[in-house]
Amino acid sequence: MIRISSLALTLMLAACAQQASVSETAETAEILIPVPEDGEGALAPLATTEEIEFAIQSPVLDALRVFSPPHAPFTVIDNIHHVGGASVSAYLITTDEGHFLIDGIVPQSPPMIVENIEALGFDISDVRYLLNSHAHIDHAGGLAALKQASGAEMVASERDAPILEAGAISFGPSAGMPFPPVRVDQIIYDGDQLTLGDTTLTAVIMPGHSPGCTSWLVDVTDEDGNPHQAFFHCSTSLGGQRVAPESYPGMVDDYRATFERVRGIDADVFLAFHSSMFGMLDRYERLMGGDDLAFVDAGALQRFNDASEAQFNTALSRQQSELETSSR
Ligand SMILES: [Zn+2]
Repeated sequence: MIRISSLALTLMLAACAQQASVSETAETAEILIPVPEDGEGALAPLATTEEIEFAIQSPVLDALRVFSPPHAPFTVIDNIHHVGGASVSAYLITTDEGHFLIDGIVPQSPPMIVENIEALGFDISDVRYLLNSHAHIDHAGGLAALKQASGAEMVASERDAPILEAGAISFGPSAGMPFPPVRVDQIIYDGDQLTLGDTTLTAVIMPGHSPGCTSWLVDVTDEDGNPHQAFFHCSTSLGGQRVAPESYPGMVDDYRATFERVRGIDADVFLAFHSSMFGMLDRYERLMGGDDLAFVDAGALQRFNDASEAQFNTALSRQQSELETSSR
């Protein structure tokens, strides 16, 4: 058994419940979480069923409300389905031998994601691999509930896994917003592949936005039998994080290497995890209007990468000069 201090627990829950007051509950309860004895030493304390349920039922934090609106599920192309919301995405990639599910959105999102999966005729219990773009609450907040609902293996990058298992990040705008922590069953490294049935996902680790930001490449075929390559782009926005001084050591070099890395990726189905980044709502309208190739766009990924790099450079210069001014 691992003892979580009542303060740590209360802080975690407080992040999911606007009205929760630390002082009300901090002195009292001590929660015991059973941990499997595997001889590997103590595992990280993870969210219990009750904590997951509490997080789902709690009001969405003001700062996260923009990320929570639902959206009808739809098939993007081939076996890639959008099961996320209108603002933040989650993807189901289906095969005859089980499915991949990428991201859990905010802690309150899992019921919507599960409903969306069912509305498309699939079953959450057939998800074999649960993946995460990056360990921020707007993408990872619902993972613990989805792992519990699916029994899937949680796969994450080496540098984001500790954040997922802590349910907390120590820097950036979401530093004060813990989320239900989730056990990572398998660490994925750059270039590693996961296969289910006839579908193989290849991991592209592109640090910067988070230390282990993880994108995925997968081959798909359109309705006319033409091949395409889809890229699930983790993120290269700053997302309100500081780069001068760096939010973590090596952050600026990580971003630069990632922009360079993306330049070498040739994918014509550019998908991301915030709808605004890949024009999801417009493309969805076109898809519904009968354009089966609404999400196929050979130039979209590189246009996005160029714009994102320019934004990064502008923000870096601005933050550097602010830093100089303040230290004078
Ligand atoms: Zn993020």
